[in-house]
Amino acid sequence: MLNNFKTYEIWFITGSQHLYGPETLAQVNANSKKIATALNRAKNIPIKIKFKALLTTPDEIYHLCKSANSSENCIGLIAWMHTFSPAKMWINGLKILGKPMLHLHTQFNAEIPWSTINMDFMNLNQSAHGGREFGFINTRMGLNRKVVVGHWQDQEVIEKIAIWSRVAAGWKATQTMKIARFGDNMRQVAVTEGDKVAAQIQFGYAVNGYGLGDLVDYIDQVTQKEIQATVEQYFEAYEVMKSLHKNGSQHHALQEAAKIEVGLRTFLEEGGFTAFTDTFENLTGLVQLPGIAVQRLMADGYGFGAEGDWKTAALVRAMKVMGNGLDGGNSFMEDYTYHFNPTNMAVLGAHMLEICPTIAQSKPTCEIYPLGIGGKSAPVRLVFNGRTGQALNASMIDLGDRFRLLLNTVEAIAPEADLPNLPVARVVWKAHPDVKTAAAAWILAGGAHHTCYSQNLSQEYLEDFAEMANIECILIDKSTNIHSFKQSLKWNELYYKLNK
Ligand code: MN
Repeated sequence: MLNNFKTYEIWFITGSQHLYGPETLAQVNANSKKIATALNRAKNIPIKIKFKALLTTPDEIYHLCKSANSSENCIGLIAWMHTFSPAKMWINGLKILGKPMLHLHTQFNAEIPWSTINMDFMNLNQSAHGGREFGFINTRMGLNRKVVVGHWQDQEVIEKIAIWSRVAAGWKATQTMKIARFGDNMRQVAVTEGDKVAAQIQFGYAVNGYGLGDLVDYIDQVTQKEIQATVEQYFEAYEVMKSLHKNGSQHHALQEAAKIEVGLRTFLEEGGFTAFTDTFENLTGLVQLPGIAVQRLMADGYGFGAEGDWKTAALVRAMKVMGNGLDGGNSFMEDYTYHFNPTNMAVLGAHMLEICPTIAQSKPTCEIYPLGIGGKSAPVRLVFNGRTGQALNASMIDLGDRFRLLLNTVEAIAPEADLPNLPVARVVWKAHPDVKTAAAAWILAGGAHHTCYSQNLSQEYLEDFAEMANIECILIDKSTNIHSFKQSLKWNELYYKLNK
């Protein structure tokens, strides 16, 4: 479900020109290979970095961009100008390039060799101005790209490349994603709606609806053996409450939950779906609202949005791909209720059931309680506290004329006390810069109540993602103040209207 980095490649390309003679170009080529090899070996970059070409003519550049576009494996390009590379040569290539690009503004040597530097050295090591020529043409053409500056052995530089490479994988997954929508939207809810055609044009993912009967057909075919195997997994992975045990009064409900999980999983696998939504208002034929099923599918890497929220489902999936293998998890989340205690103001995030156990502080418990809404049998769910520490909430909204990605950095804290009567997974966090400012800014920006909550992706990942998707990105963090936040919303309004 999440091991797809293996086939991916990032192509390292170097710009130069013929002015300097074959000896210089041979050196440029050798240096480029060394840098690409070092990046390929960097432990924190999970994707293969391949030195692809030294480019010195418009034709070479154009054909390289063409083959990058048509390559299934290539998810992005790292471009470096070792020397000056006259940028009009790049226009035709950049015009057609459809893959993300990172401009690595580095040079081969870290330091100036003061006692030996001569004009040969100056000829060879010109990235300080070669990179500016390349930057100009990208800006002149209005192209989004990530610019990373510094020596190629600098850990900060390598980390920025690592982040971008993970985002490129997330972007690749987004462009081919198929999202299954069981039922429709929660009735009358606004923010979970949106333009699916616009989304497919912008992000590539396809959202299509299925009747609950389509899913029930799969659930009905689940065998007793499959149910048993899944129930055993529950006992291995979680602390299961007594009444759900084999001779407990509600064991049948655990079996029913396992049956739903197997049916749902098979449906998604057979259809090639990597994200899905459901809603408690469309559950015809299901005995329980899928709780533990959704939680475990999310833990395996599926994107999910409740109440028909396909935008959040897509975002959760993209973020799970980006964070694959990193410490910490990513989950569907909802701002649920506030703690307005002036000395410890915080937000309690949760959902009716569907929070991903990858964000759990410790081993979840498997419990059952009535839901109160939806009119179905009591659903089985995993209950836990989220891990404490730095995290982030991301929300994708459809403003009618564009998509906006809204971010808020937070710090998760331990709940002040045990919550013995709250049988759902939850996280308590302090939003940056403070709960009042963060919530006001979020509401002014039209941010949804549904988010993807991430423990392992910083704002830089999401900003890179927004640039690849070419959408608006708004950040609420420690430096946010409401006055300038309002101004930037207004400026953006104007920018996106003029930039159509
Ligand atoms: Mn909800």
